Amino acid sequence: MITANNYYRNVFGHKMYKASISLNVTCPNRDGSKGSGGCIFCSEGGSGEFASHFEEPIKEQIEKAVSQVRNKAGNDAGYIAYFQSFTSTYCSPCYLEKALVEASSCEKIEAVSVATRPDCLSDEIIEVLKRQVERMPLFVELGLQTASDKTAGLINRCYKTEEYPKAVARLKDAGINVITHIIFGLPGETKAMMMDTVRLCVDSGSDGYKFTCLYVLKNTPLEKLFFENKVEILEMEEYFDIVEDAVRMLPDNAVVHRFTGDGPKKILIAPEWTKNKRQVINYVNRRFGL
Ligand code: SF4
Repeated sequence: MITANNYYRNVFGHKMYKASISLNVTCPNRDGSKGSGGCIFCSEGGSGEFASHFEEPIKEQIEKAVSQVRNKAGNDAGYIAYFQSFTSTYCSPCYLEKALVEASSCEKIEAVSVATRPDCLSDEIIEVLKRQVERMPLFVELGLQTASDKTAGLINRCYKTEEYPKAVARLKDAGINVITHIIFGLPGETKAMMMDTVRLCVDSGSDGYKFTCLYVLKNTPLEKLFFENKVEILEMEEYFDIVEDAVRMLPDNAVVHRFTGDGPKKILIAPEWTKNKRQVINYVNRRFGL
C-alpha cells in the first residue's frame, strides 16, 4: 500500500492539494432517470460541500480553492482540479470537455480528478476522458460504496454492482487511473460483506482507494433512519479495525487516498468522533505508521 502523499511525491515531485470544482450536473438517482432522492447518505450538495457554486467560472472556482489552502500548501505544492459534486460525467460530452480544458489551463493545475459513477461513462464520455489524459494525468473516482446489490438497494444507489468491474476495465483501457470510493458501516453490512467489496475492487484492478465511514448528515434520508435507531454507527476503533483489514488485502502498488472522510461540520450529525479532525489524523498516522 502506498499513501497518497508518497504517490504524489513520486509522480509529481511535490505535495498535491485538491481544488474542488462544481459542474452543473446532478445524478441519475436524483433526477428520476433511475431514481429520486439520491443515495440515502448524500447531502443536498451532492458531496460537494467544499466546492464553489457551478455558476462561477471554472477558473474562479479553482483560484478560490487554491487561495484557501495556499498558506498551508506553500509555493512548491501542485494542485489537482477535482470535479467533486454530484456525478461529474452526467452531462453532455461537450460540456465536460470544455470544463476539463478550462481547468487544465489554470496555473498550478497539474492533474484532474473526476468523480462519477460506473453507469455514467458512455463511449463518448470515455473519448473525452481519453483526450484529457493527453493533457495531464487524470484520475476517475468511482462511487461504488459496496459490492452488495442488496445494500445498494437500501442506499438507493440505483445501479447494479456488475457495472463497476466493466467501468474499471474500460477506464483502464483508456489509460485512466481509477480510484474507488468505499463506505464501511453501511446499514446491514457485516465485516465479511465489507471485505467482499474490497476484494471486488482489487480483482477489478482499481488503482486507488478512498475509504470512509458512514456519515449521518442533516437533511438526508439516512438522518431519519438514524434517529429511528435503524442504523448503527461505527466507533473509531471499530472502523479503523476494518480499514486495517482492508489495507491488508490491497496489492503493494495500491494507493490509499483516504483512510476516512471529512464530513462537513455544519451538517454532520454522526459519528461524533469524526468531528475532532486533528485527533483522527493523529490516530491514523500512529496506527498506520504514516
Ligand atoms: S451518486 Fe454520488 S453524488 Fe449522486 S446521490 Fe449518490 S453519492 Fe450523492
